[in-house]
Amino acid sequence: MIEIPGLFKILQQPKFRPLYNTMKNQSQIKTVSFHTLGCKLNQSETDAIAADFRRNGFELVPFRSAADLTVINTCTVTNEADSKSRQIIRNAIKASPQGRIVAMGCYAQINPEDLSSIAGIDMILGTNEKYRLLEYITQLETKVAKPLVYVNESGDIEKYRESEFISATGRTRAYLKIQEGCDYFCSYCIIPFARGKARSRQMSECLTEAKSLVDRGYRELVLTGINIGTWQDGSNKLADLLERLSIISGLDRIRISSIEPNTISDDLLQLLAERPTICLHLHIPLQSGSPAVLNRMRRKYQLAEYFELASRIGSILPDVAWGTDLIVGFPGETEAEFAETLAVVERLPFSYLHIFRYSERDGTIAAKLPNRVDFHIKKKRASILREMGAKKKHVYNRRFLNSVQPVLFEMVGKDDLVSGMTPNYIRVKMAGDESFKNTIGPVLLTQDCGNYLMGEISE
Ligand code: SF4
Repeated sequence: MIEIPGLFKILQQPKFRPLYNTMKNQSQIKTVSFHTLGCKLNQSETDAIAADFRRNGFELVPFRSAADLTVINTCTVTNEADSKSRQIIRNAIKASPQGRIVAMGCYAQINPEDLSSIAGIDMILGTNEKYRLLEYITQLETKVAKPLVYVNESGDIEKYRESEFISATGRTRAYLKIQEGCDYFCSYCIIPFARGKARSRQMSECLTEAKSLVDRGYRELVLTGINIGTWQDGSNKLADLLERLSIISGLDRIRISSIEPNTISDDLLQLLAERPTICLHLHIPLQSGSPAVLNRMRRKYQLAEYFELASRIGSILPDVAWGTDLIVGFPGETEAEFAETLAVVERLPFSYLHIFRYSERDGTIAAKLPNRVDFHIKKKRASILREMGAKKKHVYNRRFLNSVQPVLFEMVGKDDLVSGMTPNYIRVKMAGDESFKNTIGPVLLTQDCGNYLMGEISE
């Protein structure tokens, strides 16, 4: 088959529409199912690709039902993630023996050879190529004996490409992708190899897409990327982009997702303090409270710098919701080092914790470090920190009891309560129905119910 670059886009032009529709109607592929492994960014990228399929007339069916095309967006963050990806692909092949199977994303980028050995995969797409899936669809009309592999060389995925910045939309919030890749090379992380070096989406493109998302009715934009604090366009830094986004007419909220501690400037903190549109919420990975472990992790900051950031945050944003990630059981983590983490977490005013048990990833420096921590010890340490995290969440949430907060309502749950989030990331529920969805209302917070606060509309 001759491949014409951009053929799909050409066929989408109005003058070629009838030809495109005829081709599509004759296509074997009408139903498509998607499955994602790994992080929120991967999920939002799948959502965006799936939305593109829906817009182009394909029917989306649930994963594991028989589909003409099944797409698995893989993850490679640990060896366990690789084996989970392989398992899910095998399940998909069993569920749709006559359908086509595409494996794409991070694992596909890092190890296409591994995936090629699974009988039944039709196509393998790397981290850049996955955005071209619709263009490749004609090549999937007939079952192939050997998978077609489209994976860029790692050097090639360091280039800026507007096509890799596609944003996903949920019910009330949209994920605006502003950045891709990372060049920090933390010792446990494979991401820089899977997604390439850090590159930023141009300011003008970010603003144009943000405006179009607002025009389509989205009330909240969540900025996403791998290392968004490194965003830069010429002399413009993340604070400049946020400032421009915050004045978009009709936009109610902007939320910053995870951001590395060494990339947080005073300008950025000031902006959060001054612009009501920017949510008072920061997720700043700490990973460990032990200076020695942080060094072994090759993080880009010392513990003292994290504390210095904490004091800047405390004076500029005393009410901010501040979440963090922690890894327990990193190679060589002693009881004393874990105790240092506990002491640091106790001291810092985190409002919630995300705890991860360290898991090896071949090809990283950390995977070769000696003194692996026993599985049961990791489990115990994770559970101690989880308990601490739950207490911190209660302490933070309770500070806002009896206050009125703006809640963006998202859905009606199985408990028949309408549920939404405050700007400072507190889940709130109250009596209500579908008509509340995608509205922002002033809610009096009345009761702490564990994972959420109960409330009632304030007159
Ligand atoms: Fe991985 Fe470190 Fe970059 Fe995060 S900052 S993506 S952990 S290398």
